[in-house]
Amino acid sequence: MPTPARYRGRFAPSPTGPLHFGSLVAALGSWLIARRDGGDWLLRIENIDPPREIPGAAQQQIETLKACGLHSDEPILWQSTRSDAYAATLDRLLRDGTAFECRCSRSDLAADAGVHRGCVHADAMRQPAIRLRVGDERIGFDDSIQGRFEQSAREQIGDFVLRRADGLWAYQLAVVVDDAAQGITQIVRGADLLDSTPRQILLQRALGLSTPAYAHLPLAVDADGRKLAKSSAALPIDAADPLPALHAAYAFLGQDAAAIAGARTADALLRRALDAFDPIRIERVLQRIAVP
Ligand code: GLU
Repeated sequence: MPTPARYRGRFAPSPTGPLHFGSLVAALGSWLIARRDGGDWLLRIENIDPPREIPGAAQQQIETLKACGLHSDEPILWQSTRSDAYAATLDRLLRDGTAFECRCSRSDLAADAGVHRGCVHADAMRQPAIRLRVGDERIGFDDSIQGRFEQSAREQIGDFVLRRADGLWAYQLAVVVDDAAQGITQIVRGADLLDSTPRQILLQRALGLSTPAYAHLPLAVDADGRKLAKSSAALPIDAADPLPALHAAYAFLGQDAAAIAGARTADALLRRALDAFDPIRIERVLQRIAVP
């Protein structure tokens, strides 16, 4: 595992569709924050959920990011190639008793709003999921945009899934293993993942990994408060003409749009955007309405 001497950030889309405005905000925000500190910016394709994957979407996302001038500093990491690393991590957690087999179904846990605090089902015929056992502690962190965020591990999180009963790897396991393997020092992403972060910190601690710094950007929503990715206003970014979307994403991040006015190429726009970038201007809100 590399021990990075400098800032390393990343953008980690799931290939569930073309790059839309909400994901461009996360890509641009993570790139600006990494570059401002002279750091690396890596791209990782989180393709561990084949049923949700749209064929061709990953390639399309990569091409659109390129058109936007956002290039990974290292070869792209594809999570579909990482099963051995996830399996080794899971084995370790099973051996030391931090992870355990669970045969509870969603409906078994419905009475507890899906929070697992102990198995309530033992049907040996059912394929088990693997969960991380959590204790009684409060788990919190200081987000550089959103401030302090805390959850009670037992009440709000419960024992959470690392490998699903259908054999697929859970996002929480894959993201922690790969952020560590890639030496990521700061994670910048949408605020929809704020409440995944305590789970990821619990897992980092169980594995003896260091915890990166976190910055959760306002989530782009439409006027009805729906995540832009899910709304009809979520048009894909036009790779043939990415400048309007880059302008809108920069403004969405609270930045001075005048500083990038007149840039004729994505590279020129990014250079100016970086010169004028001030992370303090990013609004400390969980959601912000995006003008489609
Ligand atoms: N792959 C996740 C998503 O597209 C993001 C993962 C992350 O940034 O931690 O929602």
